[in-house]
Amino acid sequence: MIPSEHWYRARADLEFVAGKWGELKNRLRKTGGDPNAPRVGGSKEPALEVDLYVSDLMHEITQHAVFLGRVLIEETDWRQEHGEMPGLLMDVASQYGHFVTDEDEKVAWDFVDQAAEFRRKVEGVLAPRAPRRYVGPCFHEDCQAELYITDGIEGGVCAQCMTPWTLESQMRSTNADLRTLLMEKGEITIALKILGYEVRTNLVHEWATPKGKREARLKEQEPGLYRLFDAVKLIQNKGKRGARPKALVT
Ligand SMILES: [Zn+2]
Repeated sequence: MIPSEHWYRARADLEFVAGKWGELKNRLRKTGGDPNAPRVGGSKEPALEVDLYVSDLMHEITQHAVFLGRVLIEETDWRQEHGEMPGLLMDVASQYGHFVTDEDEKVAWDFVDQAAEFRRKVEGVLAPRAPRRYVGPCFHEDCQAELYITDGIEGGVCAQCMTPWTLESQMRSTNADLRTLLMEKGEITIALKILGYEVRTNLVHEWATPKGKREARLKEQEPGLYRLFDAVKLIQNKGKRGARPKALVT
C-alpha cells in the first residue's frame, strides 16, 4: 500500500480543484490584454475569446471525475449525489480511500498523480499574470504580427515568423521608421509610450482636434492617419517641462 500521506494530499488536491471551479470558469474568457489600452488598428485579435487551454483542462477534469464516479458505482455501493461539477469532483474526492488503498499500487499512484497534476495545472492557470504591454509590430520582412511584453519579459520570439526580438530592437525599429510612419491616433499614443514619453490618454486626440479657429496641431495626412514624427515633435516641445524620451529621435 502506498504511504498514507499521499492519500490525504490527493484528496486535498481534488478538493482544491473543485474549489477553484468558479475561478476557472471566469478564466475561460480571456481578454485581449490591457482593457484600458487603445485598440490597435488592423489588429485581428477579437476583444474576447475563449481560452482553449482552460476549456480543455476543465473538460479533462470533468471527464476524470465522471470516470472515478463510474468506478465507484461499479465497485462500491456509493451513490452519486452530484451529477455536475464541481460537486461531482467533491463527491469522488471524499471517496479517496477506495482508490488509494487499492491492492494494485498502480491504481493508487494514478489517483494521487492525476490529482496532483490537475492541481498544478489549475494553479498555473490561476496564477496572477502581469498585464501585457504592446511594443509595436514585428519588423521582420512582411510579418504583421503584433508583439507584447508579457510577465515583464522584454523580448522573445515572434509567434508568427519565429524571429527573435528584444525591447531594444523594437524601439530601434520604431525609431527608424518614425519620419514617414503614418498611424491612427491610438497607435500614436502607444508608439509615444514605447519611445518612453508619458502620454495622457486623450492627448493625441486633443492634438488632432481643431480648437475654435485654430487648426489642429497634429495634421491629418490621410483619412484617419497622422504622422508619428509630428506627434514626437509636439510632445518634445511640450516636454520642455519634463518629458524625457528613452530613445532620442534624430
Ligand atoms: Zn514576426
